[in-house]
Amino acid sequence: MPARPEGQATMVSLALLTEASDAAIVAEGVSRIFGPLRAIDRLSVVIPRGVIYGLLGPSGSGKTTFLRMVVGALRPSEGRLLIFGTPMPDRKIAARIGYMPQSPALYPDLTLRENLAFFGAVYRVPRQQLEHRIDELATDLDLLAWLDHPLYRFSTGMLQRASLAIALLHEPDLLVLDEPTIGLDPLLRRVLWQRFRTLASAGTTLLISTHSMDEAERCDLLGFLRNGRLLASDTPAALRAATGQESLEDAFLVLAGQPILPVEPAR
Ligand code: ADP
Ligand code: MG
Repeated sequence: MPARPEGQATMVSLALLTEASDAAIVAEGVSRIFGPLRAIDRLSVVIPRGVIYGLLGPSGSGKTTFLRMVVGALRPSEGRLLIFGTPMPDRKIAARIGYMPQSPALYPDLTLRENLAFFGAVYRVPRQQLEHRIDELATDLDLLAWLDHPLYRFSTGMLQRASLAIALLHEPDLLVLDEPTIGLDPLLRRVLWQRFRTLASAGTTLLISTHSMDEAERCDLLGFLRNGRLLASDTPAALRAATGQESLEDAFLVLAGQPILPVEPAR
């Protein structure tokens, strides 16, 4: 009997489908085109549920553009983007997503409680639950003493935590965070990462963009983005092993085809 390569192809795609059917995010050749620019260029990835997926890449590599497609704020120009099995954008799915944008979109003249109440109504958190949820999040994120202060009095770190509280209000199944710890001190970073891990353990999927390599180490899976292209997507250990590098930064440079220059010691 002649070999049947089509048969093999079917098996492969069936395996992919099985993996993908339960995934939080499936991108199939997704592009986002702005005029002459492919900000995201034929990106394919499968992100399982309950993991922390770190999207790593230099400024302008397309991180925010991809995240905005995931949350349904931007439509892909090409390809298919499925969240929990449903093509985006989709309003029902959007309601299951929490999004912390790169620059927090909050009302500075309102108190934290008023901001949370406003977004609670937007996300349709039932009134009876909202008050409890606000207290719970403010406690967890160490903002209880600030609930009745206007946001214009908040520090950067407090605003980041306020923004995270808003993203978490409706207990989303998918949490999308755009450089959530930028400008935060190391202690606060650690607190937030503990929080992310707790959420993932409870089954929430987290998609986090960062250019911090030590944060990348804390992710279950990492995607390296450069010029809109996903160079690799795997565990931190596998990315190091595949490139023969000890540091993720060097692994990234190898994947990007960049020379690794020796670091000059400080004088
Ligand atoms: P990152 O978040 O990794 O810094 P972005 O996704 O913000 O990257 O941007 C990727 C590229 O797309 C950049 O060159 C940026 O200038 C461009 N870009 C992003 N949004 C738009 C837009 N709305 N119109 C035109 N170009 C855009
Ligand atoms: Mg960005």
